[in-house]
Amino acid sequence: MAKILCVLFDDPTTGYPPQYARKDIPKIEVYPGGQTVPTPKHIDFVPGELLGCVSGGLGLREYLEGLGHTFVVTSDKEGPDSVFEKELPDADIVISQPFWPAYLTAERIAKARKLKLAITAGIGSDHVDLDAAIKAGITVVEETFSNSISVAEHAVMMILSLVRNYIPSHEIAAKGGWNISDCVSRSYDIEGMHVGTVAAGRIGVAVLKRLKPFDVHLHYFDKHRLPESVEKELGLTFHPSVEELVAACDAISIHAPLYPGTKNLFDEKLLNSMKPGSYVVNCARGEICDRDAIVRALESGQLAGYAGDVWFPQPAPKDHPWRTMPHNGMTPHISGASLSGQARYAAGTREILECWFEDRPIRNEYLIVAGGALAGTGAKSYDVAAKK
Ligand code: NDP
Repeated sequence: MAKILCVLFDDPTTGYPPQYARKDIPKIEVYPGGQTVPTPKHIDFVPGELLGCVSGGLGLREYLEGLGHTFVVTSDKEGPDSVFEKELPDADIVISQPFWPAYLTAERIAKARKLKLAITAGIGSDHVDLDAAIKAGITVVEETFSNSISVAEHAVMMILSLVRNYIPSHEIAAKGGWNISDCVSRSYDIEGMHVGTVAAGRIGVAVLKRLKPFDVHLHYFDKHRLPESVEKELGLTFHPSVEELVAACDAISIHAPLYPGTKNLFDEKLLNSMKPGSYVVNCARGEICDRDAIVRALESGQLAGYAGDVWFPQPAPKDHPWRTMPHNGMTPHISGASLSGQARYAAGTREILECWFEDRPIRNEYLIVAGGALAGTGAKSYDVAAKK
């Protein structure tokens, strides 16, 4: 029997289950492009429930314990005395979400002698040292596409809220104020602006599609160019380098994976090459941006606003400067954790576990590392990480 160690975020401060705002969520069967949503044989939760917290247990407890496995769920993940670190040495499977990542460093992997499978419930397995996982023969998987649209919606919301100065204006209203001048002194229309994405994968393209009706000029940079038909349909301008992209745009949304090739991509030099008063939204990974260079660019006015939901480390320390820097629209890491997204990645986790225990192949698109090498989506997205 296996031991499954699952690291999830804390329950709501008001208790579990929360009071839900809606009774259900729309049923989606196919993602854009044709990939089907997860198809486990069965689920033991109602889609729309809070699943990613400790009491939610990703809806897996009944299934795993019913098979006789041990299912340990904790939010306590940092430091040598944490539950995660103590339970890790004899765990067969580790599950965690990027929102509350169980960092599987090389040191931890060395201690996890029985570990065979690391599941990212969601997308983005950069919290796992992939080189170490390859060497240890650990399979790493994630649920490709499960929350891509959730993130795209969030990124578009953040671009609009920065440009329109939404959050400060809301705060004025909430505090009983009515000073329109203070609200609108930094408020613009996005119409006619040049907006670009760094990367045009599942999320990047979804962002571009959603922005098209706003009558903006759309730009992108990616390692590979999109088909001409897509460029034409969306009216996209391709730039062969990130430098050329940022020089042409008023607002940038980042949607590349984190690996050594993208770490600190938005450094002082790149930020200073942008048009003064640009906006940056980052719902990809915090370390793609140089933390202190972002703060300085906001303080000097080089950036008019920065928003996103990704930080390093996570959870971010209380004194992280992105919490208090000027003109920021930061949230905790939530864009991919909407209740809609959770239903899909919880079902994806169940599908992966069913395949694992029944000795059936896991979908190729879910694979990051398998058989001692990068595989599936991992072979496309994380190539540099494994060669560093
Ligand atoms: P995809 O794999 O569909 O897309 C990633 C794209 O990035 C690919 O087109 C890839 O190009 C491109 N790319 C890789 N390296 C670079 C680079 N150096 N410069 C420009 N483009 C590059 O992934 P998704 O769109 O689904 O997700 C993207 C990232 O978003 C994830 O890796 C994850 O970190 C983050 N994410 C965040 C979430 C959140 O809650 N905030 C939730 C889900 C994901 P190519 O394939 O051509 O090599």
